[in-house]
Amino acid sequence: MTQSAPVNPSRSRHMSGACRAEPPACTLFMTSRCSLACAWCRRAKIGINPTPPMTLTIVRRLLDQYPDISVFAMAGQGEPTLAPEFADIARYLAQAGKVLILDTNGVNAGSVAELKGSFSRISLSLYGYDRASFTAYTGFDGFDAVMDSYRVYRETCSQVCISYIVDKDALQDVRRMFDLCDALQPSRLLLYNPLCYDDSDTVQKAKVITARDEDVIAAIADIAVGRQYPVDLPPYPDYRTPLNSCRSYCAVINVDGNGNIGGCLRKVPPDERYGNVFRDADCFNTPEMLRLRRRQMVGYPPHPECSNCFGNWGYGDYRSLLWKKDVSQCG
Ligand code: SF4
Repeated sequence: MTQSAPVNPSRSRHMSGACRAEPPACTLFMTSRCSLACAWCRRAKIGINPTPPMTLTIVRRLLDQYPDISVFAMAGQGEPTLAPEFADIARYLAQAGKVLILDTNGVNAGSVAELKGSFSRISLSLYGYDRASFTAYTGFDGFDAVMDSYRVYRETCSQVCISYIVDKDALQDVRRMFDLCDALQPSRLLLYNPLCYDDSDTVQKAKVITARDEDVIAAIADIAVGRQYPVDLPPYPDYRTPLNSCRSYCAVINVDGNGNIGGCLRKVPPDERYGNVFRDADCFNTPEMLRLRRRQMVGYPPHPECSNCFGNWGYGDYRSLLWKKDVSQCG
């Protein structure tokens, strides 16, 4: 999809029906480049389709359509700070009064230091509790750089969270990570379940902590209790009782560097078949977006990928997502 593609008539804007929506929040897929090679990342598991970096032109085009989007997360399938227009886009959105969240691996703090006051929250994905564990998981000797970045984030932003993916077979690593967080004192610690991108990947699927793992759940709760910072425990799906509670197609518009959009929060990236900010005058309400939203609203998962996504067990609605919660919840 090129940026000069003609704009279709606003057919869907005038469609009747209860499923039309305005996006309250946006995830900007800033770049498909990354500086790490994490073992459990989608990139390593099933690969990604490379997309161009996000541009200010795309962001402006999106806001022309939906000026009331109040929250922007700079995230995506790569490391957002590597996008050439990262700083320009952050400044633009901050000056427009938007709540701005950065999800980062912490390796390149460079331009973040120049953006003091722009971010409402910085969420650092922590991939190890020391140099050896970080290098083993990411393939990059970057732990010391991440610790340096954390100090920069603390000076740049009042809410600096840490996220960590729990390996249920290595709870000793979780304890060590908590020891590190006791020293770092993040505004909040978010523990995540691993995502399984390929249902036939039985090894990775077995890593997902489900409601049946009662001993693991109790052990994690025990490790987390009594900390001096808030801790969000992972979502635990129960495959026996699918809730089909994800409402992502009402909650978020994802946009990539082609201007393609999507509405899944975890597994299905933007694609031109869902919509495009240049092609569609009301891109959040194309016939395909309306179809997928309608499925969610009546309790049917929109994608095959939903079957083992913890978004379907009460963690796919607007309020359950940290980066769309009231940011004042972080101290
Ligand atoms: S359940 Fe997961 S895969 Fe399905 S739409 Fe929601 S976030 Fe995406």
